Amino acid sequence: MKIGILGCAGRMGRMLVAQVLATEGAELAGGSEAPGSEFAGQDITQLAGHEPAGLVVGDDTRALFEASDAVIDFTVPAATAIHAVLAEDTATALIVGTTGLDAAQQDAINEAATKAPVVQAANFSVGVNLMLSLTEQVAATLADDYDIEIVEMHHRHKVDAPSGTALALGDAAALGRGVDLGAKSQRVRDGHTGPRQAGDIGFATLRGGDVAGDHTVIFAGDGERVELTHKAANRSVFASGAVRAALWTEGRASGLYSMRDVLST
Ligand code: NAD
Repeated sequence: MKIGILGCAGRMGRMLVAQVLATEGAELAGGSEAPGSEFAGQDITQLAGHEPAGLVVGDDTRALFEASDAVIDFTVPAATAIHAVLAEDTATALIVGTTGLDAAQQDAINEAATKAPVVQAANFSVGVNLMLSLTEQVAATLADDYDIEIVEMHHRHKVDAPSGTALALGDAAALGRGVDLGAKSQRVRDGHTGPRQAGDIGFATLRGGDVAGDHTVIFAGDGERVELTHKAANRSVFASGAVRAALWTEGRASGLYSMRDVLST
């Protein structure tokens, strides 16, 4: 399968290029960067730490979609919305890892999924997808006198907060509890906040260093705590999950799929 990498000079983009090269059945179709990028014209595989293979960073994104069976997007929300339109126009499978999308940008993804298979996940690691199921299960089992708090830490360059994964864990907890996360989430505490509201799902965000992604869901009761923790040692777990998702789209009908779908079939 020919796979294109959008944002191929980014932190995840370089990991994705390396992962495609290492994966049987996957072939690198090319890669693109933002218009005017300092990486334009540079060799894509060399940027990813491999021997040059004659493919250079381009900015003709439509041509990349046309040359690919599936395209992987770990870029920025505004670019992802534009890429979704190209996936729709060219009926090319799209794998979306970009987080922090607003409602209009998410609508563009949903629209693309009417014409092509789209796999979207806030986190492509196998371990986090297991943790989503466990979080839903624990939240459904423990009554709401167990307070739910979600703590995440990422590297100093991350631009959105809480992380897409923390929000997905919040959604899983809310689903288990049978409540709406929007009505129950407590994202910021500062100053004289008063006591914790029963049933809230709280978030705390830490940023620093080169942390690839740590998440803990805490269920704090009177006299005991249950904690579920996942730590990504490096970004390769996200890249291997995303390439696995790309291969999974082969022959799939159009539709919006999750990494849980990929792992369960
Ligand atoms: P990064 O800033 O290192 O890379 C993003 C790249 O996208 C940059 O190189 C940038 O130039 C490029 N880009 C911007 N506009 C573009 C355009 N129009 N066309 C092509 N390329 C464009 O960021 P990163 O750490 O690689 O993370 C990227 C995204 O992936 C973030 O939203 C992050 O939260 C998300 N992420 C998701 C997962 C997951 O498993 N879902 C894991 C890690 C990171």
